Amino acid sequence: MSTPIIVGNWKMNGLSADSADRVKQITADLAAQPVSGVEIVVCPPFTQLALVATALKGSPVALGAQDCHKDAKGAHTGDIAACMLKDVGTTHVILGHSERRRDHGEVDETVREKTVSAIAAGLTPIVCIGETEDQRQEGQTEDTLGWQIKGSLPDGFDGIVAYEPVWAIGTGLAATSEDIQSTVAFIRAELVRQFGDAGKSLRILYGGSVDATNAASILAIPDVAGALVGGASLKPDAFLSIVRAVP
Ligand code: 13P
Repeated sequence: MSTPIIVGNWKMNGLSADSADRVKQITADLAAQPVSGVEIVVCPPFTQLALVATALKGSPVALGAQDCHKDAKGAHTGDIAACMLKDVGTTHVILGHSERRRDHGEVDETVREKTVSAIAAGLTPIVCIGETEDQRQEGQTEDTLGWQIKGSLPDGFDGIVAYEPVWAIGTGLAATSEDIQSTVAFIRAELVRQFGDAGKSLRILYGGSVDATNAASILAIPDVAGALVGGASLKPDAFLSIVRAVP
């Protein structure tokens, strides 16, 4: 079994002092009451990566970013390359989040190109997939996920897949355990179809309204290797409860 992983996606929240304070609380708590058998990653906004990297030194918490460009350098005003993330101590990068697909028109091909770039830079990509409420209502969940897997994950993909139903993000309405279990089983079958044996060991996370109250039941679902946490990751107590809910 691969190691479970809890990833905090801070999205576009907080200034430097907020992030510094949050990291301080998380690392102090983990120093006082260490956890084992779980990887922990926090993903602050770009401008706070260096600050958080410094604050995390010597702690068991790794650093992630929320996006990268597909190219390693060039005329791309405002963008950040994967190698630049690596350069400041980042080890993971979230790609293809539904908010980027929505706000920036990212399509599966964009996500695949970014994933290739992240892997080339030595980062672990956390590639997000998930159906919208309309797609769910129309019975298109599996088709949507199938296309996203096929289109977003490059040959030889070595990373993490995060299943985040769009309708569950930030709504307080996490998917039910039954739905998560059956959808993750579908994702697993697609990964094996696409990557053969290698698809058997890729980690699949769930994301969407994970909090301190539902984490234990979600993390106990077979083949769910962890969680991608938004809102609750901004609150150190809630985030640490989720980390400690890993079975
Ligand atoms: P919430 O946990 O706030 O629903 O966000 C989930 C998410 O989008 C994590 O990437």
